[in-house]
Amino acid sequence: MTTMVEIEERRTLEDYARVAHLAPTVHELQEEASRVIPRLDGRTVWMVNSTSRGGGVAEMLPTMVVLLRDLGIRTEWVTIESEDPAFFTLTKRLHNMIHGEGGTTLPENAREVYEAENRKNAEPLAQLMKPGDILVVHDPQPMPLAAEIKERHDIKAIWRCHIGLDEENAATEAAWDFLTPYADAYEHAVFSAPEYIPHYLAGQATVIYPAINPLSEKNQDLHLHKLIGILSNSALITNPGPLVRPPLPDLVKRLQGDGSYLPANLWEDIGLLTRPIVTQVSRWDRLKGFKPLMDAFIKMKLAMFDTREPESWVERRRMDLVRLVLAGPDPASIQDDPEGKEVVEELHAAYLELDPALQDDVAVVTLPMSSARHNALIVNALQRASSVVVQNSLREGFGLTVTEAMWKRVPILSNSKACGPRQQVRDGLDGKLISDPEDPDELAEAIRVMMADTPGRDEWGRNAQRRTHQRFLVFNQLKDWIWLLSALV
Ligand code: UDP
Repeated sequence: MTTMVEIEERRTLEDYARVAHLAPTVHELQEEASRVIPRLDGRTVWMVNSTSRGGGVAEMLPTMVVLLRDLGIRTEWVTIESEDPAFFTLTKRLHNMIHGEGGTTLPENAREVYEAENRKNAEPLAQLMKPGDILVVHDPQPMPLAAEIKERHDIKAIWRCHIGLDEENAATEAAWDFLTPYADAYEHAVFSAPEYIPHYLAGQATVIYPAINPLSEKNQDLHLHKLIGILSNSALITNPGPLVRPPLPDLVKRLQGDGSYLPANLWEDIGLLTRPIVTQVSRWDRLKGFKPLMDAFIKMKLAMFDTREPESWVERRRMDLVRLVLAGPDPASIQDDPEGKEVVEELHAAYLELDPALQDDVAVVTLPMSSARHNALIVNALQRASSVVVQNSLREGFGLTVTEAMWKRVPILSNSKACGPRQQVRDGLDGKLISDPEDPDELAEAIRVMMADTPGRDEWGRNAQRRTHQRFLVFNQLKDWIWLLSALV
């Protein structure tokens, strides 16, 4: 029932240490690890979640597992399985409820299903584990495992919850009422923001921020030629000349004035290499605030010279040239996400309503999802080609898109209502945080101010990168983990 996940990730600490600006952080981690890890005394850490593919947890675990091993901690990754569709329906419900949605009632047999499926997974997992080992369970799906395994072995357990809502309502209360009995079997819990710690776990929970891998396809440095090659081969820019590599099999498509989607460079170049660019990359989710962002951008363009004379010719020209890129996954890849499709359709309809001149200034683009690697490189190149990255989410768990852009020295525009971005972005230091993502005036003004302030953008970008270096790289996260693991034993 459980599967040991084989990890393809091959980058070791040595690879990171070979990068000049990462070396000090890596060495610091190794140094701390050498002091702390002997306390673990050969115990194995078992990471358990419900899938090895798709989603942030599955994306983050390979790097974490490989680097923990590299530091000298025996670490394994196991996924649980279930053939009962009711189990995943239930855990999806719980997931939504922790986000404050989906009502308060669960099926009558919810506990029965939840416990039965976890019990089936506990048996094979217990056979792999030995007394003294440490179980790290990710998210609610496998949460009952700790109690089950503890009936068989003397182990320690940590629950790592990657989701949360920064307020309580009837749905979150109901979810936590359901989950509390399973939390009791854990020595400690870990959340992504202090606001996500439910009150009954206060005192036994800490915060470990999510983090990015600076050498992954999504975040690695891109040499100028490589950057241009990716933009050109994915159809994000017009081909500037002969390239060594052929075009990607699946291209970036741009929504056209007639409602069709064509390769993004077919009719008109968006201008990623020359124009000021404001970008948001996200899943097509209503909570990501794409539509209010487009409205605000249009408002800014229309009001550009109504309310205030630009300071200079350059500022006027910049406002004239600036374009908005709204990017998300190819809708064909989200067949099982009816809400996502609805959000694309709404944006599509709003775009078609725009005056053709304004349509030129907004690029709604869909990114190919057939290859995770290509998708990551495209996101990387697009973020690097941006003057400002916006994350206009109405709510946001952490917002890795913010971290990714900060790492690339791009200033951020987000809002203080979204819990994740406000952990990362300091207003006026790393970019701007507005108070209301749905207020087009506030958002339009923030875009205008950021675009007008070139030295400001440089400084915010630099600060953002420094902050990411200090707080949101995988090495920082691992440091927190090794201290927590050793404190546990
Ligand atoms: N992303 C991507 N391709 C897309 C849209 C999003 O690779 O077309 C990535 C994005 O770069 C980020 C992740 O999906 O790494 C989204 O994580 P985030 O924490 O921003 O939001 P979530 O999707 O977890 O709500």
